Amino acid sequence: MAKVLIIGAGGVGRVVAHKCAQVPEVFSEIMLASRTKSKCDEIANSITTQTIKTAQVDAENTAELVALIRSFKPELVINVALPYQDLLIMDACLETGVHYLDTANYEPKDEAKFEYSWQWAYFDKFKEKELTAILGCGFDPGQTQIYTAYAAKHYFDEIHYLDIVDCNGGDHGKAFATNFNPEINIREITQNGKYWKNDAWVETKPHEIMRPLTYPNIGVRNSYLMYHEELESLVKNFPTLKQARFWMTFSDEYLTHLRVIQNIGMASIEPIMYKGVEIVPLQFLKETLPKPETLGENYTGETSIGCRIKGVKNGKSKTIYIWNNCSHQAAFDETGAQGVSYTTGVPAMLGALMLITGKWKKPGVFNVEEFNPDPFMEKIGTYGLPWEIKENIDLEFEY
Ligand code: NDP
Repeated sequence: MAKVLIIGAGGVGRVVAHKCAQVPEVFSEIMLASRTKSKCDEIANSITTQTIKTAQVDAENTAELVALIRSFKPELVINVALPYQDLLIMDACLETGVHYLDTANYEPKDEAKFEYSWQWAYFDKFKEKELTAILGCGFDPGQTQIYTAYAAKHYFDEIHYLDIVDCNGGDHGKAFATNFNPEINIREITQNGKYWKNDAWVETKPHEIMRPLTYPNIGVRNSYLMYHEELESLVKNFPTLKQARFWMTFSDEYLTHLRVIQNIGMASIEPIMYKGVEIVPLQFLKETLPKPETLGENYTGETSIGCRIKGVKNGKSKTIYIWNNCSHQAAFDETGAQGVSYTTGVPAMLGALMLITGKWKKPGVFNVEEFNPDPFMEKIGTYGLPWEIKENIDLEFEY
């Protein structure tokens, strides 16, 4: 029985609140706090099984955060606001003696650069206070690392090649929209690609490498090599990896819109003056694009995300594929959010449950593959994200 404070009332915050409310025996009291309180109230009103408290908080104001945490006294803060706030929320957790969990690694606002160094640097501070910080417990990052840890533990002696494949085979009916925060999303996908090969990072131009890959129940989709944050921790925690790559599907229509947005300067994060007011073009664009939390109602199709892993077991080479398919419509019917928010929010809730029940509690700052994957894998299906695993299947992939 624990009190939990969820910060951020977007698509992911909605799912986390719904899912925590489904497990009242663990999450006995839930507070949802965000910059705009009316959004918290709307989500709280959509949950009938438990009363959700709501509050206004600016997560960029540490004093406000500390005051809120001191008044509600949660055991854990689930941070599903934006990556810019990670360090400030971690500071507030340290000051108040509260555990921490997030779904995306810290990113400075003025530089589209994400890496774990800033958050890993908090290890000693969390350890000294005997607090746990769980980093990146969504789907990717998150579930993909737990799949990798599970496969490494049960199917291999050593893992050598990892390909994380992320397909959104859904259709929201809009000409252009992003499935999570547009600002964060566009910053991420317009960066150079990067993958791990033979103990070094290999850099590529954005979307330079494309492969048509096959996804269960969806079919073949053009998949682009990207850098994704979980690669950084996976190559550190699984040093036997000779190669680690991340692929994401984009339609031609999506990439055309993205190219135009970049060409006309709307993806820029450099501030400009507009009628005497300083604005950031990408932040302005975000305001004009469909809100990710509004995409759910007419969303058809499924997401399909998994890990293709090759390694050795008993001296023999073997491959496995482990994945989940998630229906946008089923996610919406259950929580009012589309599949991308759902696949992020469910692992966040379960990671929080693992921490509170002591299965994933150790002092320090950890990526999810550093915990025992078994109790998580045992439960994730029943909470809405069932997984499948196949051994030695040919998924048209060449290493
Ligand atoms: P949204 O933009 O829909 O929601 C973000 C929420 O955070 C909004 O409610 C916003 O408030 C709130 N917020 C922003 N700034 C502040 C602040 N200073 N103080 C308090 N609240 C603030 O994003 P999503 O729900 O789509 O994504 C949430 C997080 O999940 C992001 O960090 C994203 O990167 C991560 N994510 C992780 C994935 C994974 O698989 N690991 C996949 C998808 C997302 P307001 O409503 O006022 O704007």
